[in-house]
Amino acid sequence: MSVTCPRCKAINTGDSAFCISCGAPLEASTPPTPAAPFVQSYQTQSSSPVSADVPLVMIEERYKTLRAISSFLTVLAWIFLVIGGLSGIMMGLSQDTGMGLLFVLAGILAGGLLFSIVKAYAELLQIVIDIEENTRLTAELLERK
Ligand SMILES: [Zn+2]
Repeated sequence: MSVTCPRCKAINTGDSAFCISCGAPLEASTPPTPAAPFVQSYQTQSSSPVSADVPLVMIEERYKTLRAISSFLTVLAWIFLVIGGLSGIMMGLSQDTGMGLLFVLAGILAGGLLFSIVKAYAELLQIVIDIEENTRLTAELLERK
């Protein structure tokens, strides 16, 4: 059996452990079997879908859910504002006394307060999504380098 030297490409015959031309260790002379089963099982583990693909999909799903909640809260905030304002105007118009304007203002104020609270939550959620997504994208870019 002949072995080509990985360093100088000289052809070595026999089972010598080192190249006859340059003295570099020859790969074929080392026993090939012991390391193989371990490498194989390690590769099988790392290429399994559980460790690589599923978490990414779950993260994507989580972002979708968070985005849906965020846009839902924004819509809810506007609904609160409109309902608050409208009910204030309705109550104010139904009042015969001079208190009508106060009810209108109170309705708009209550609606505006709910609006800003819910809108703040929606924006906070959006910021969290942006930060997490940026962190993930940065990590992915760093991994590609
Ligand atoms: Zn050699």
